[in-house]
Amino acid sequence: MRPFLLVALLGCVAPSVATAAEPRPNILLIVADDLGYNDVGFQGARDIPTPHLDRLAASGLRCTDGYVSYPVCSPSRAGILTGRYQQRFGYEFNPKWDATAATHGLPLSESTLADSLRSAGYTTGAIGKWHLGAHPQFHPNRRGFDEYFGFLGGGHRYFPGSVVEVEIGAGKKATVTGDAEQNAPILRNTTVVPEVGELTTRLGEEATASINRYAGSPKPWFLYLAFNAPHTPMQARADQLARFASITDERRRTYAAMVATVDEAVGRMLDALDATGQRERTLIFFISDNGGPMTKRNANASMNSPLRGQKGDVFEGGIRVPFLVSWPARIPAGRAYSQPIIALDILPTALAAAGTTRDAKLAALDGVDLLPFLTGKNNAAPHARLFWRMDGGEAFAVREGSWKWLRTYQNAPQLYDLSTDLGETRDVAASHPEIAARLATAAADWNRGLIAPAFGNNPFGGLINRTGLEKDLAP
Ligand code: CA
Repeated sequence: MRPFLLVALLGCVAPSVATAAEPRPNILLIVADDLGYNDVGFQGARDIPTPHLDRLAASGLRCTDGYVSYPVCSPSRAGILTGRYQQRFGYEFNPKWDATAATHGLPLSESTLADSLRSAGYTTGAIGKWHLGAHPQFHPNRRGFDEYFGFLGGGHRYFPGSVVEVEIGAGKKATVTGDAEQNAPILRNTTVVPEVGELTTRLGEEATASINRYAGSPKPWFLYLAFNAPHTPMQARADQLARFASITDERRRTYAAMVATVDEAVGRMLDALDATGQRERTLIFFISDNGGPMTKRNANASMNSPLRGQKGDVFEGGIRVPFLVSWPARIPAGRAYSQPIIALDILPTALAAAGTTRDAKLAALDGVDLLPFLTGKNNAAPHARLFWRMDGGEAFAVREGSWKWLRTYQNAPQLYDLSTDLGETRDVAASHPEIAARLATAAADWNRGLIAPAFGNNPFGGLINRTGLEKDLAP
């Protein structure tokens, strides 16, 4: 009698379990461009209110030690969309904006997050800055995205026909109307569309329209929204500029207005997700593609404090970025997560959330599924170590626990303890030689899995070209 009762109970329970299966989440990946570590409210900015990004942060986890895999735009994006250290496939410089340059872009041997999600039945869309190759073979529609709206280069002016400021060498600048990349056409898939209004606003409107349109489909969706703001040229809407009239530095005032426009666009997207009942089952990532450029080329008046360095550096200010993960149905809200993670983790995390995996024949990932860590099931560190190499070996860095080791071609290796020295001001390599040696060896070991840059002009030659890397790196 009892076995019969058990079977009867199971018989009643099983169908309800099956019908209660959660729908697959939508995935929204928002990337800002050259946004400083300290330039949004949830990171502590005082002069740039970002209520909507703060609302997004409050709905999920603020990852204090979230990194990107490269300190400039395009290689970082190659890492984000492949989940692999991009130097494994020779992607270590920004590509030329050139529709005939068949080697300047994300190699066709690599598979993107959009490829995997589209294979799993997702609708996939990309909006905004592409910067993964301008040759037709690299077009987003050929890299996994059903839909594309944006521009293929690394930057764009914000107003139709407006002049842009370009650097002409030796720190001098000029305003021109003819910079081809900045004036590239806005495309819908492969069709040129008329430009209307301010670009960040327009990209946000496109994303919001996609969210509303996708809501009527039975398929889950993946949307990759890559703002070019607040990257130069410094241009913003008059009404946003007026809000920041109290900021006396003109560049910082314009920057604040550009960040506020990103924030406004994110707010409209969150409102659309709420209004269409999709918010609970949408996994959202928000990051910057690299640290803020404060004094170097394309300086935009961003601030990375309390971090040292900026875009183009392997100091924390070049690679540690604002990093949010929100999924109300699964991930705790309103907390900070402080283990080191990297943008390479976005791909495996998104695929795990979608309940799918990559083709087993594809090359191995470097990122890991963060869901067990972000949900508190696993309290260990997701990564034993994180690594950086830039400009073909001009600089290396390793993060292991609270230790940060780095070296550049010009300087001796340095070691910092980020738990007591977040600003990387006190080099302790001399007092911890065993740790410095261990991390130098780890960098050399990791480097053996990388290849030389497949494109791009390295003005320095790099350690690879100069001395033989393992020999030079290892103690
Ligand atoms: Ca960038």
